[in-house]
Amino acid sequence: MAGWRENIRKVTPYVPGEQPKQAGQGRLIKLNTNENPYPPTPEVAECLKKMDTEAFRLYPNTDAAPIVEELAKRFGLPQECFFVGVGSDDVLAAAFQTFFSGTKPVLFPDITYSFYEVWAGLYRVPYRKLPLDGQFRIRAEDYIPVKREKGLKKDGNGGIVLANPNAPTGIFEPLSFVEQIVSQNPDSVVIVDEAYIDFVTMPKASAIFLTQKYENLLVVQTFSKSRSMAGMRIGYAVGQPELIAALNAVKFSWNSYTMNLPAQLLGAASLRAEEYFKETIAKVIATRERSRARLEELGFSCTDSQANFLFVTHPAAKAEDLLAELRKEDIIVRHFGADRIRNYLRITVGTDEEMERLVACLGEILRN
Ligand SMILES: *Cc1c(COP(=O)(O)O)cnc(C)c1O
Repeated sequence: MAGWRENIRKVTPYVPGEQPKQAGQGRLIKLNTNENPYPPTPEVAECLKKMDTEAFRLYPNTDAAPIVEELAKRFGLPQECFFVGVGSDDVLAAAFQTFFSGTKPVLFPDITYSFYEVWAGLYRVPYRKLPLDGQFRIRAEDYIPVKREKGLKKDGNGGIVLANPNAPTGIFEPLSFVEQIVSQNPDSVVIVDEAYIDFVTMPKASAIFLTQKYENLLVVQTFSKSRSMAGMRIGYAVGQPELIAALNAVKFSWNSYTMNLPAQLLGAASLRAEEYFKETIAKVIATRERSRARLEELGFSCTDSQANFLFVTHPAAKAEDLLAELRKEDIIVRHFGADRIRNYLRITVGTDEEMERLVACLGEILRN
């Protein structure tokens, strides 16, 4: 074997949900990657139509200033508190590289966004996966360092990553839960991945404002789900300026011009349309609740998902069989092979019509 082959980096990559070529056309109902079934706000289309292609001649702004300005306005926080990346995957990857270069293990749940483990492997971050309890809840006590007498700490960690709502369960933990973990871990950066936070019905769900109180908290959000802009790749982190500066130092050591100009302008346009944003989210939440009730009528049990997907299992049917039968009907949902969730399906909330067809198909499959 030629020597160069030994020098190839060995990684176990993340496996994204299928993006079939015929998506968006014809019969196919795509409920596998938690995209929003509604288009982005008309302001985005308007902005695209008016775009001055002459401006593409120049390199884009390095810090996505148009988006940062709008984010700062929307959340009423200083611009220095925001870091924008090419999707929140890009932001999270940068955060793993920036904050987790210690020797103690970084902690995250055994059942969560499977990309965390992939980044830990890629960046050689030591990590430990802590099991969710029997109800798929995060056990807060597992993330709190135990103090021995005389103030000596044991079981320290090198950082914590939590998705809230968690994926693929959709289960949301209240702000008090997040605050407890952040306040009890002053020596660790705690990353809270809020990809689905806008679909939570509880008020004041986001930990964004806690960043002003805790210097070790980084909150990550995305335009991919609630803003219907997965294809544009826009995500951001919120934290105190020291954390944001550290992220920027790593980013500028890698690629200073990560986000292209159109994405910067279209992202800013989306943030200017608060009404449309709220309406779209309300529609998705209403459909989620209706669909959950319909699936429960068919005998499914569903977690209390606060996200734009449902996580469901049926006592009399194998998830993998349902997945295959739905695929024959041109309905794509997501299945994960991990131990405790092997008999579950994760179903993105589509339009009412799409969910009607899903429920009808499942009813048909279960009868046969
Ligand atoms: C979808 C998702 C992301 C990534 O979103 P992008 O912004 O599209 O990169 C990150 N975390 C979780 C938990 C997600 O479900």
